Amino acid sequence: AGNKRHPWSDELENKLQNVFNLTSFRENQLNAINAVLSGKDVFVLMPTGGGKSLCYQLPAIVKRGKMETTVVVSPLISLMQDQIDHLKRLNINAEMISSKESAQSRKDAFRKFRNGELDMIYLSPEMLSKSQQCKNTIKLLYDSGNLARIVIDEAHCVSSWGHDFRPDYKLLGFFKKEYPDIPMMALTATASVRVKQDILSQLGIEHAHVFQQTFNRPNLIYMVRPKNKNSTFEMINEIKMRFPRFTGIVYCNSKTQCESVANMLQTNGLSAAFYHAGMGNEDRTNVQNMWQSGDIKIVCATVAFGMGIDKPDVRFVYHHSIPRSLEGYYQECGRGGRDGKTAFCTLYYQFADFKSIESQIKRDKDLKSQVLKDRHLEKLRNVLNYCSNRIDCRRKLVLQYFNENFNSKQCRKTCDNCKSTNTVEVRDITESAKDIINIVKKTQTWDVTINYVIDVYRGSRVQKIVQNGHDMLPEHGKGSHYHKEDLQRVIQLLMDEKCLFEKTETKAQFTHSYVKYRHDLNKPLTLAFFIPTVDSPSRSNSR
Ligand code: ADP
Ligand code: ZN
Repeated sequence: AGNKRHPWSDELENKLQNVFNLTSFRENQLNAINAVLSGKDVFVLMPTGGGKSLCYQLPAIVKRGKMETTVVVSPLISLMQDQIDHLKRLNINAEMISSKESAQSRKDAFRKFRNGELDMIYLSPEMLSKSQQCKNTIKLLYDSGNLARIVIDEAHCVSSWGHDFRPDYKLLGFFKKEYPDIPMMALTATASVRVKQDILSQLGIEHAHVFQQTFNRPNLIYMVRPKNKNSTFEMINEIKMRFPRFTGIVYCNSKTQCESVANMLQTNGLSAAFYHAGMGNEDRTNVQNMWQSGDIKIVCATVAFGMGIDKPDVRFVYHHSIPRSLEGYYQECGRGGRDGKTAFCTLYYQFADFKSIESQIKRDKDLKSQVLKDRHLEKLRNVLNYCSNRIDCRRKLVLQYFNENFNSKQCRKTCDNCKSTNTVEVRDITESAKDIINIVKKTQTWDVTINYVIDVYRGSRVQKIVQNGHDMLPEHGKGSHYHKEDLQRVIQLLMDEKCLFEKTETKAQFTHSYVKYRHDLNKPLTLAFFIPTVDSPSRSNSR
């Protein structure tokens, strides 16, 4: 259906390239756009980062009349603001109306909306439920034939089965009742069947065309490895042995890391370059072109690389540091194996990288609200859980994140956990958890870090611990049989349980995180431990 020509096909192509600066559509985007432009109700199910916004932003500027406006309902004001800023940079006329703006800017937005000056108007659901002016203006547009379509973004918010139910979304059912002939597009990344059915019936679009894709990429092999000082050499050897003359990407976490890793690859005779946001436009384009044409085989890059890149024969993707979110990880790995042939995705994980990205997020001035920061921190924690999980199928874990049910039998040992012959033992860690809480309680006044607490528990006698007298605590040394990494997991678990939390302070540009006590443990805790077989990689960073 994607290839079928429509009266608007040329215009779509043209605006995709010249307004959005994109070269081609991703899976389902064109189909969904064609369906909604044909006047159908449409339901789009795509992973986060899959490209849902284009599905309604592009049709919004393919207009029958100059005054036609697309109405978008979106639950988060900060995300709306991001989108509006982006659209304005593309010279698209978009405004938002929510309770958060000043009276004046809301008035301006209403005026433009009423006069049909906008391509798109973003409305918060609260506005729709509370503001009569809002409803009247939509009616006005409808009566003059200028209401192009209704878009419900994050449509899972309509369902109380979902993870993010918003009571105001319930009222969105009125659109189809009042304007049955206006096409509606609902979009979400939530793939559970129950939520999907609920969305369709709540919005009154049971007959909508559903565009849904499995998020699974069967030709990608997923692996997580412990990171230590030899990891870069391990990677270099592996590239030489397994992927000579093949194309790949090494994702790094910082500009300096990109440069130093690229340097090491070159020194070891590999064809590599680096790519990051600190380079000039020309240099970046150069590297990208050379990589695209095969003159350079490996790019060591930050996440800035890969947007809009479509090289089919990428055979390996390394993450030299952990990614910031599983969505990001999924997207970055997704640049491998576009030709359908096998590609290897290897992630190097160490707790220290988690801590350093965590403090980057905490310091990030672009993340203006605490809510936004917390979201990023939670996403990072999901990555940590993913990395320290040595039991469950990687595919299952990634897909679970997108709410897709995946039967791990279908993995057919194409991830390290499914392939591994290592065994796992679930142990009761309640007593140890209580010990750790006790250490935190007793060291409150010193402002101690997670690692400090772990060191005390494992019986370290470093100067600072002895000076503070914490080697005298009864818990000192009680945890000497634990790997450091396992105790980090225990502490994360205690934070999830809200027994402990981290307090962050910025002193002279440096951000420090101290672990603090909130309340006692009121239930038993268990943790899965990994029992390595003889020839599995050592965990040399743990001791
Ligand atoms: P979602 O809303 O599904 O989470 P977005 O719409 O924010 O995803 O898109 C995620 C990223 O993908 C954005 O950076 C966007 O520019 C990019 N993107 C979307 N469609 C395409 C495309 N056809 N080609 C290249 N990049 C795209
Ligand atoms: Zn698996």
